[in-house]
Amino acid sequence: MSNKTGTVMVVGGGIAGLTAAWELTRQNIHVELVEKSCFLGGHSIGFTCKASDKCQQCGACSVEEMLASVVNEPLINVHLRTEVKNLEKTDTFKVSLEKSSVQVEDGKVIKGFSVHNSPLYVAGKDCADDDLPSGAVKIDDMGSTAEIEVDAVVVATGFSPFDPNIKSTYGYGKWKNLITGMELENILRENTFAVRPSDGKIPEKIAFIQCVGSRDERLGNLWCSQVCCAYAMRMAGAIKYKDSNADISIFYIDIQNTGKEFPVFYEKIKSDVRFVRTIPVDIYPLENDRLTLRHMVEENGTPDFEEFDLVVLSVGIMPNEDTDKISKVFNIALNEDGFLDDNAAGTSGVFVAGTASGPQGIADTIASSGRTVYETMKYLGVIK
Ligand SMILES: Cc1cc2nc3c(=O)[nH]c(=O)nc-3n(C[C@H](O)[C@H](O)[C@H](O)COP(=O)(O)OP(=O)(O)OC[C@H]3O[C@@H](n4cnc5c(N)ncnc54)[C@H](O)[C@@H]3O)c2cc1C
Ligand code: SF4
Ligand code: SF4
Repeated sequence: MSNKTGTVMVVGGGIAGLTAAWELTRQNIHVELVEKSCFLGGHSIGFTCKASDKCQQCGACSVEEMLASVVNEPLINVHLRTEVKNLEKTDTFKVSLEKSSVQVEDGKVIKGFSVHNSPLYVAGKDCADDDLPSGAVKIDDMGSTAEIEVDAVVVATGFSPFDPNIKSTYGYGKWKNLITGMELENILRENTFAVRPSDGKIPEKIAFIQCVGSRDERLGNLWCSQVCCAYAMRMAGAIKYKDSNADISIFYIDIQNTGKEFPVFYEKIKSDVRFVRTIPVDIYPLENDRLTLRHMVEENGTPDFEEFDLVVLSVGIMPNEDTDKISKVFNIALNEDGFLDDNAAGTSGVFVAGTASGPQGIADTIASSGRTVYETMKYLGVIK
């Protein structure tokens, strides 16, 4: 006979959902973990280590560690490529699960970022069985269609990175060497060095542009995304550590300089990286796929132009693109910025964890999941 003390559905398998699931099982609570995509880990499982001669506290390895713990925990039942179609509250929650609409391109095979992902490979339609890597699963064979019953729900559906196409003056998508912070993460992971997408060469001059999509009145996004100053500086530091010739500039409004370790790191990196207090207005292409940034000089308001080999947009944290749907299915109100309102959730047995409720980094997300689990256990009567 099972000795579990209840069942909780955790929706979203990023670091928030993984932490919540894991912490719940520490109390012997059974978890149904529902993840829309084909892999666990969310956005941060793909992040690269930013250590120089010492750890830079980026938190990326804690996601890998948590993922390994979760996949080896028998009390957690994982539903990949699955979404919640309907939730009905009685004494418990009756949940209808359905396959999510996530697809893999016909004939293509995609690979998870972590070796702990199972399956590690997912194949699109029209892939010949003989050509598939060992353990690969076809996309149509993934996903749960089921009715389950749970005692409480943790919604950890995360965020969407800002779509830089919306800021049309930068020309994202038109210039090969204009990339986002997420794309630079991929490049650093796959190549160790920062390389230009256009020719694979190591760029001499690199610019980071901060606050892309955040703190922008014209877009109506007034919030600070909290993480992009730190991630840009850590990436700049990692690049400089591997290539001391790299000439890096960070264009910014002001620096979100919080946390215990971060002010020390900020002081140190000022000697390696140039900080320019202005946000470029637009970007033009040059020969050899170089780019010109036009910005206003802070002191006198006159335009200035500067050329770079690679430009990185520090895109911010936006509400999950499906937030309206999630808010309806789980009956959670939205806050003024459009994230799930974690204060509004909870009393009914539905709780929110992580960036679904607003911007935060990995460490704060882990802490927020811990608090959510505490509230969930109180609701279940596991603790007083
Ligand atoms: C470019 C960039 C770099 C960053 N670098 C750092 C860094 O170096 N250090 C740091 O501390 N933080 C960093 N962050 C922030 C970090 O990404 C977040 O703190 C972290 O990913 C939040 O985890 P989460 O679980 O809340 O959300 P997510 O990582 O977004 O995970 C949410 C999960 O829920 C799933 N999901 C979504 N909708 C549904 C649904 N309807 N049903 C089921 N599942 C669903 C998603 O597929 C995903 O797996 C960075 C952010 C960006 C944009
Ligand atoms: S916290 Fe980040 S920098 Fe430190 S070891 Fe882990 S991945 Fe590397
Ligand atoms: S963390 Fe930095 S870059 Fe990101 S929105 Fe805040 S101030 Fe701008």
